[in-house]
Amino acid sequence: AKRAPTVIIVGAGMSGISAAKTLSDAGIKRILILEATNRIGGRMYKANFSGVSVELGANWVSGVGGPQVNPVWIMANKLRLKSFLSNFLNLSSNTYKPEGGVYEESVARKAFEVAEQVVEFGTKVSKDLAARKQPDISILTSQRLKNYFPKTPLEMVIDYYLCDFESAEPPRATSLLNSEPSSTYSNFGEDSYFVSDPRGYESVVHYVAQQFLTTNAAGQITDPRLQLKKVVTEISRSPRGVAVKTEDGLVHRADYVIVSVSLGVLQNDLIKFHPSLPQWKILALDQFNMAIYTKIFLKFPYKFWPSGNGTEFFLYAHEKRGYYPFWQHLEREFPGENVLLVTVTDDESRRLEQQSDSETKAEIMAVLRNMFGKQIPEATDILVPRWLSNRFFKGSYSNWPIGVSHHQFNQIKAPVGKVYFTGEHTSAAYYGYVHGAYFAGIDTAKLMTSCIKRGACSYNI
Ligand code: FAD
Repeated sequence: AKRAPTVIIVGAGMSGISAAKTLSDAGIKRILILEATNRIGGRMYKANFSGVSVELGANWVSGVGGPQVNPVWIMANKLRLKSFLSNFLNLSSNTYKPEGGVYEESVARKAFEVAEQVVEFGTKVSKDLAARKQPDISILTSQRLKNYFPKTPLEMVIDYYLCDFESAEPPRATSLLNSEPSSTYSNFGEDSYFVSDPRGYESVVHYVAQQFLTTNAAGQITDPRLQLKKVVTEISRSPRGVAVKTEDGLVHRADYVIVSVSLGVLQNDLIKFHPSLPQWKILALDQFNMAIYTKIFLKFPYKFWPSGNGTEFFLYAHEKRGYYPFWQHLEREFPGENVLLVTVTDDESRRLEQQSDSETKAEIMAVLRNMFGKQIPEATDILVPRWLSNRFFKGSYSNWPIGVSHHQFNQIKAPVGKVYFTGEHTSAAYYGYVHGAYFAGIDTAKLMTSCIKRGACSYNI
């Protein structure tokens, strides 16, 4: 009888685990998952911050309440993960001026309305470009077409919230055609739920893993087919199979390999390919963007910000666009813990990763003193994740830049011989999201099974 095929999966984030489960469901059980860190979950990552469990990576189930059901939402519900519906509608009452105090609601609301009309206009333009098979433009170009030039701190922070806060890159970088309308929100719904559970959002990855990997009585994965602290450094391929080398010097052989590491990792040199990847593949990978989104947590001795209904999210408008712009108090999640979350992206994230946490804390304290007055207490703790510097991530999530065609996008996903690719950055509809990683794993595994079972190995780009 023909020997059952063997498959190595590099990376145990959502996409790698979802790919492995799909293979297992299809009867391909001779798999080996090699994960660089000491845990599964990847960019779904809970950490202890001053005694509470915060999410350094993915936090929201984005896309709930629409015509289709988001599979990640189903899992979160099965696990009864504690989560909170996010209401961003009050931002116009909660936008702080550079020098402190909030903008008058009517003034801020007007600015929001104008900016939202520009987004709607952009969505129309995008649909029109798609229908007429016209080339892509950036979000910035669509704003210019509508004569919208955000200049004041208020206009800039609203623009930041509507664009950068989602895609983690500025309007000039982001593709209009591929970001508006968003498949996530149009297919799965406009709602987003903020997960805050001591088990962590990452427990959805455990949930998928436990369906095909052996666990002990405590539910911990004991399956020898999952190996942690295995950093893959080399992938060699030939028509007969693949050899995957890990940092400990071991070589693992198999018929196929699925690479699920982030786009950022693929754009760097942690993993060497032999022979090297073809030019079209390298170009496709390098042309796409790995964006950076940084969630900074702060702990205070007591609360000095407004709390209660409609206060959860607030904005800080500053002359420098994107300077500590988006704030969230975690009163519902961690009552009485006095924890704030501020988010920065892109160049600000890069800058913060290069400086010490105490410098960052000093900047943030100056901002908070502008917003709330000189008398507020000093933060007692700060946590600044460094997704870009981390060699196993090299950024937060992918963003579709202006001018990359669907043909080029498909090249990112396309297998090279027996080397297959998956990850959030291979999901054309849902790149950048947890559900994108989940679907991507399924897609790649199916592509591989149809090659294995039906000999259908050519990939149509
Ligand atoms: P990963 O999770 O990166 O998995 C790849 C795995 O490969 C990792 O475990 C890594 O350790 C491992 N690896 C890397 N290199 C090697 C190597 N050489 N050898 C072996 N293993 C290796 N999505 C949402 O839906 N909602 C959100 O609110 C949201 N917010 C986010 C906020 C932040 C700060 C970040 C970082 C991400 C956020 N995302 C969000 C995106 C979401 O987390 C990702 O899309 C998803 O988790 C990616 O899964 P993946 O399997 O593609 O990649």
